[in-house]
Amino acid sequence: MSQEPMVRPGAISGNGCILGVQRAGSGWEVAFASEPRTSPQPLWFHIEASGLGGAPVEFVWEHADICLGSHTELARLRPVLRADGGDWTRVQAVTVDQLDDGRKHVRFSHAGGAEAVAAAFCYPYAPPDLDATLADAASPWERCSIGVTHEGRPVTRLRLAGERGGERPGLYLMARQHSGETPGSWGLDGILRHLASDADEARELREALDVWVCPFVDLDGVVNGDYGKDALPWDYNRAWERLPMRASVHAIQRDLMRFRKHTQPRLVIDLHGPGHSTPGVYVQLPRSERPEAQRQGGLEFGADLAALFPELAAASLTRETTYASRWNKLSTLGTWTWDFLEQTQCVTVEISYQRLTDEPLTPDGYHEIGRRVLRAAHAWLSRRDEA
Ligand SMILES: [Zn+2]
Repeated sequence: MSQEPMVRPGAISGNGCILGVQRAGSGWEVAFASEPRTSPQPLWFHIEASGLGGAPVEFVWEHADICLGSHTELARLRPVLRADGGDWTRVQAVTVDQLDDGRKHVRFSHAGGAEAVAAAFCYPYAPPDLDATLADAASPWERCSIGVTHEGRPVTRLRLAGERGGERPGLYLMARQHSGETPGSWGLDGILRHLASDADEARELREALDVWVCPFVDLDGVVNGDYGKDALPWDYNRAWERLPMRASVHAIQRDLMRFRKHTQPRLVIDLHGPGHSTPGVYVQLPRSERPEAQRQGGLEFGADLAALFPELAAASLTRETTYASRWNKLSTLGTWTWDFLEQTQCVTVEISYQRLTDEPLTPDGYHEIGRRVLRAAHAWLSRRDEA
């Protein structure tokens, strides 16, 4: 067998502490752990083994049981692999090793035949993926920047080309307040592609809605490969104070104030991913401390979604928010748009890293989820437009 392969975090959105590389049968075993980076509790990983010379490789994800999600559900996880820079695909299955002391490791493997094999917790989505989606010369998305991140990267904002002047129903979408939550981006990618398509529905929606998009809120975290949930020093979705605690939150607040001047009625959608093994799609409702009208708007959006997801139990499309927070639990985007943007409704939509029901989600499946979220938004806004 050839010499030991090189194993390191992926070039973009890379994350992984390499714990050991050793021979195993005719191939290699790579032990690694998700790096917490700025988060107290880790989850995201994206590593690449190169110089394999076609040898099979088994990945051993150590400390998987302390990652964000239920440790009893680890056997249901389906990380993704790609060989020699090709398409990412889910692993067929994982196995869970429980050690004598109670720790749990998750194993999954690649059968060999490649020079380089990359492994990630879920399908990565980073700026080059957005660039590919927007590359079509006929794309209706106008791109600009609205500010600069703490590390000096311009914050992208897209707006659908179309009628200007006057007020139209407005939709403001964002993803990656938590930088490792790539299912939110894949749903958003489906929305961007659908609105750029020549489908009849897309034409109608382009005429009906003024759509603004911030694809990467924590862009630094996305590029660096941070998980970004409860990111220190300040979670992005707890940084929506009257005086914002993050540079891109400040930039987006100013942008939302511009959005307000062009749109009526308005809806903001914030796309996320839940714990590692949670299935389905759901609206994380405003907390019980918030005004009843705001909670009601979230419940209504959940009902709009439920009508479009017949494969899911209707009650599963909304969830109460009761979990603890390391910061002011009410300093979220949804609170800010309600309190400082004339009671603009924001809905937080969580999209599974794994599956809706049984089958593992693919990029096509995420695109379909995005189209349904867009339809629900249109239904929600249309009722208020007629009112
Ligand atoms: Zn999140």
